[in-house]
Amino acid sequence: MILAGQTATALQNARLLDDLRAMQDDLHRLGTELAETNRQLKRLDQTKADFVAIASHELRTPLAQIYGYSDVLSSMTDGKEIEAQEIHTFIDGITRGAMRLKRVVDAMVDVSLIETGGLLLHTACIPVTVVVHGAIEVVQPAANQRKMNLMVRDLSSLPDVEADVNRLEQVFVGILTNAIKYSPDGSEIIVSGRLDSSAEGAWVEILVADSGIGVDPDQQTVIFEKFYRSESVLFHSTDEVRFKGAGPGLGLAIAKGIVAAHHGRIWVESSGRDEERCPGSTFCVRLPATGPSRDAHHA
Ligand code: ADP
Repeated sequence: MILAGQTATALQNARLLDDLRAMQDDLHRLGTELAETNRQLKRLDQTKADFVAIASHELRTPLAQIYGYSDVLSSMTDGKEIEAQEIHTFIDGITRGAMRLKRVVDAMVDVSLIETGGLLLHTACIPVTVVVHGAIEVVQPAANQRKMNLMVRDLSSLPDVEADVNRLEQVFVGILTNAIKYSPDGSEIIVSGRLDSSAEGAWVEILVADSGIGVDPDQQTVIFEKFYRSESVLFHSTDEVRFKGAGPGLGLAIAKGIVAAHHGRIWVESSGRDEERCPGSTFCVRLPATGPSRDAHHA
C-alpha cells in the first residue's frame, strides 16, 4: 500500500511537472507573440509617421516648383518684352511640376484602391511580349538618358496570360524604372521569361535582372510595403531617373497589389546591397498561364 501511495504521488508529481512545462511553453509562446505584435504596432506607427513626412514632402516639392516658375513668369511679364524661348522654359518647368504632382496623387489613389479592394481589372487573353514591349517603350528614354542597355530575350513562345494590359504594363514600367534608378550609368538590364509547369498548373514568369546596388536579404519582403524606401525621406530627386533617386516608396506596393489581383506573385532575388560592387537584383513576376505554350500551339 505504501508503494502504491508513493507511485500515485510520483505520478501526480510527474503530471504536475508536465502541466507546468506546458504552461511554461504557453507563456513563452505568448511572450513571442506579444513581442511580434509590438513590433508590428511600432512599424504601423512608423508607417503613419512616414506617410505624413513623405506625402507632404512629395506633394510640396512639385508644388513649390510650380509656384516658383509661375511667380518668375508673372514678374517677367510685368510690362517687359520676353522672348518666346524664355516663356517656354518656364512653362516647361510648370508642366514638369504638375506631371510629378499627378504621378504622386495617382500612386496614392492606386494604393487606396488596392487596399479597399476597389481595383477594377479589364482583362483579356494577351501575350506577355505585348506588355513587356509596351513598358520598354515607356522607359526607353530614361534608359537612354542614363546610357543603359535594355535587352529583351525572346518571349514569343510563352503562353498568353489573362491580364489587364494597362495595369500589367504599369507593373513592368515600375520595375524597369527602379532597375534604371538603382543601377549605375551604362549598365545593362535584361528582361527574360520562362514557363513553369507543374501538377498544380502552368505559370509564366517574367524576370527583370539589373546590375544595380542590390537588395539586402532582410529587406526583400519589406520593399513591397507601402512607403518603404531605403533612403532618407529627404533624399529625393528632382530627376525621376537619377541614380538612387528615391520616390514616394509606393511603386512596388502598387506592383504587388496589381500582380496579386491577377492571382500572381512578385518577389526579388539578390545576394545583398552593395553600392560599390553592384551585385544586381532580379525582380520576378509570376502569373497563371491561360493558354498552351505558343510553340505547342504552332506544332
Ligand atoms: P521608390 O519610389 O522609393 O522607388 P518603390 O516602391 O518603387 O519606391 O521601391 C521601394 C524601395 O525598394 C526603393 O526605395 C529601393 O530601396 C528598393 N528597390 C526597388 N527596386 C530596386 C532595384 N532594382 N535595386 C535595388 N533596390 C531597389
